[in-house]
Amino acid sequence: MAAKIDKDTCAGCGACVDACPAEAIKIEGDKAVVVEDSCVSCGACVDACPCSAITVE
Ligand code: SF4
Ligand code: SF4
Repeated sequence: MAAKIDKDTCAGCGACVDACPAEAIKIEGDKAVVVEDSCVSCGACVDACPCSAITVE
């Protein structure tokens, strides 16, 4: 299952983009977006997010 980002909580800081080893997150507008086909569900973005906006189930 791909990482999921709560758009209401995301502050658009880009920390998850830097943390993702699969380059599966990009910033669109001022919110992070996961490219689901690229996500390997490693959870690195969850730990990197200062807003706890990301979940991987
Ligand atoms: S779970 Fe891992 S691969 Fe998926 S978006 Fe987060 S850091 Fe990238
Ligand atoms: S680290 Fe969290 S707050 Fe920052 S862009 Fe990613 S999801 Fe949004």
